[in-house]
Amino acid sequence: TKPIHIIGGGLAGSEAAWQVASAGVPVILHEMRGVRGTDAHKTDGLAELVCSNSFRSDDAETNAVGLLHAEMRLAGSLIMSAGDANQVPAGGALAVDRDGFSNAVTARLEAHPLISIVREEITGLPPEDWDQTIIATGPLTAPSLAEAIAASTGADALAFFDAIAPIIHFDSIDMHVCWFQSRYDKVGPGGTGKDYINCPMDKEQYDAFVQALLDGQKTEFKEWEGTPYFDGCLPIEVMAERGRETLRHGPMKPMGLTNAHNPTVKAYAVVQLRQDNALGTLYNMVGFQTKLKHGEQVNVLRMIPGLENAEFARLGGLHRNTYLNSPTLLDPTLQLTSRPGLRFAGQITGCEGYVESAAIGLLAGRFAAAQRLGQQISTPPVTTAFGALLNHITGGHIVSDDEPGKRSFQPMNVNFGLFPVMEAPKVEGKRLRGKEKTVAKKKAMTARALVDCRAWLGLAPAAQAAE
Ligand code: FAD
Repeated sequence: TKPIHIIGGGLAGSEAAWQVASAGVPVILHEMRGVRGTDAHKTDGLAELVCSNSFRSDDAETNAVGLLHAEMRLAGSLIMSAGDANQVPAGGALAVDRDGFSNAVTARLEAHPLISIVREEITGLPPEDWDQTIIATGPLTAPSLAEAIAASTGADALAFFDAIAPIIHFDSIDMHVCWFQSRYDKVGPGGTGKDYINCPMDKEQYDAFVQALLDGQKTEFKEWEGTPYFDGCLPIEVMAERGRETLRHGPMKPMGLTNAHNPTVKAYAVVQLRQDNALGTLYNMVGFQTKLKHGEQVNVLRMIPGLENAEFARLGGLHRNTYLNSPTLLDPTLQLTSRPGLRFAGQITGCEGYVESAAIGLLAGRFAAAQRLGQQISTPPVTTAFGALLNHITGGHIVSDDEPGKRSFQPMNVNFGLFPVMEAPKVEGKRLRGKEKTVAKKKAMTARALVDCRAWLGLAPAAQAAE
């Protein structure tokens, strides 16, 4: 069988190589470290963890990343088995000995008879005779390859990720305070004139909020993050420094909005939230990119009326990073629509985190192997963590009414907002409330995910498997 080429032996590329080889297809894995380093990696080991040593929560019942761990284990993940074998104590989290982990991944890939590892930098798009390739070169893709990808996918394709705004779970927003309305009730294509959630502030609340932004602790830029920011996406605390009224004339302007709960009182300032996914479970804060420290961010943003109990699917931040505008470029099997046979995996596709990158590598490897073997490719159902994450990357995105063409696609960790909603089951005929309800809802969603994941992988149901 002809080999599948994988470029990049990080979290995604290592997992992809393992999955392809496990399906009986040969792999050539091209990794540049050993010949050329990156700004963040320190060793030549495959699947090096560049920063923390944590795979985050291992709770598969009430945590989305814990669920992803469980699904990856079911799919025979190398990253999970090397992680499990090199665990260090970390409460409910799965943390690993970083060198032990990377050494284990490297050793198992080197020992596999179907895998060859070549230490070289790939400087352009794969040659035509590599008919099947997975590019998994990560957020720090070497510049010449990044340029070649940008040139072949269109000027706008490799999005520059210099600022991100926080994203909130819809069901944590107080809609007795906030209301749905587009500015000036503008109806764009496919819109209703009620596409934004609005949070009103009076003068006192606005002044207190601006002061909190000025007082809040900011994250310092790391040296390799020294990208200047553009005026179009200044962090809110930088705008606040420019003048008390700057935000009120920028992202917090109250014009064209009438408080549905209190129509006679004009808000002094308004924070707008825009739907972030097709399911309508997540909303992003429009123009609210921030580099406030994470703990501080939560406190300051919860001062906004209606967001007192906001739960964040992701917090804001400023990074230098490159990722594809995947929803417009990749098909549901992670294949570049303009070049069949060329797939992408890992953080470059717009997921975020070690585990998510590895999970997308796992899927890309399985899809490529199935294609090589002439089998039908089946994608995981959106009710699974695999499917929810894949759907975030390759579809399921909405484009704002007011700003046609503007992408809403931003890198994200796996979280329950990416799954189709499921109601909390009733207990003895009674509806649950508060925390109990949230936990019951999560448990129902993870149980559904594991059943569907087993079926997708062709495994026996859990009860039968345990016998
Ligand atoms: P990587 O693991 O970076 O793998 C890409 C590989 O491709 C590298 O080995 C690289 O050497 C190789 N490569 C690049 N270009 C070429 C080329 N042209 N030819 C051949 N090989 C090439 N996530 C977390 O969950 N926790 C964290 O604490 C965390 N910290 C991060 C800190 C930094 C500084 C960065 C940049 C990211 C961090 N992330 C973190 C995000 C993300 O999880 C990691 O970047 C993760 O390693 C991404 O996996 P990947 O496989 O996509 O890329």
